[in-house]
Amino acid sequence: MIEIRNIHKSFGDNAVLQGIDAVFEPGKVSLIIGGSGSGKSTLLKCMVGLHKPDEGQVFFDGKEFTSMNFEEKVPIRKEIGMLFQNSALFDSMTVEQNIIFTLDMFSDMSKSEKRDRANFCLERVNLKNTNKLYPSELSGGMKKRVGIARAISMNPKYLFCDEPNSGLDPATSILIDELIQELTQEYQCTTVVVTHDMNSVMGIGEYILFLYKGQKFWEGSNQDMLHSDVEELNDFVFASPL
Ligand code: ADP
Ligand code: MG
Repeated sequence: MIEIRNIHKSFGDNAVLQGIDAVFEPGKVSLIIGGSGSGKSTLLKCMVGLHKPDEGQVFFDGKEFTSMNFEEKVPIRKEIGMLFQNSALFDSMTVEQNIIFTLDMFSDMSKSEKRDRANFCLERVNLKNTNKLYPSELSGGMKKRVGIARAISMNPKYLFCDEPNSGLDPATSILIDELIQELTQEYQCTTVVVTHDMNSVMGIGEYILFLYKGQKFWEGSNQDMLHSDVEELNDFVFASPL
């Protein structure tokens, strides 16, 4: 479980997050939604430690992460899998090397164990026999899958995905959502997905946190959303390309 309390983050006088509280449960996909520039990525970065919040705390299964020093954070970082926006693969490395890079940083596996693990993860995301290819040889959907394979390479307890559907056609997008949902079940991990994709919201939105003007404006499930009369939510829904 991940709990965030009173997260504040400003860039200069741009108060992007103004006191966000939420609980993200294990074995479940939670979504952070909101318009462009509403602070979704900033919140995700505050959670994984890529940004230091100005105020507030992040708890990973009760352990307060924000105030830990670098060494103290390492065991939790090892349990975090992250799919970055635009996949963030190293273009000069093969698919397999991209995954081994993470294992080099965080695991003490032998060379052959790392190769086996990388290929096991690639197979899991239906990318068998792509290990020697370079990112430039892959489609957008395949790149996302490599990013996901990398994110699960360390058996994550916490899985973060920033815009996993960006740039994908609707059919591929649904497959990626399904994969994220399956992996959340398999690993029983706490999964937090940032999205502005309404198909994802309706498909996998068990818990949704809606950011608006720096605040948590609404939270609930996709079913609750169907029956909600929050006007700002409707603005968001109808502004999103389907
Ligand atoms: P979203 O992911 O919802 O589109 P972001 O979290 O990326 O929104 O950005 C929220 C706001 O914070 C935007 O106004 C953006 O310009 C600003 N912002 C994000 N990152 C930085 C940064 N590193 N430095 C300055 N401003 C930033
Ligand atoms: Mg973003």
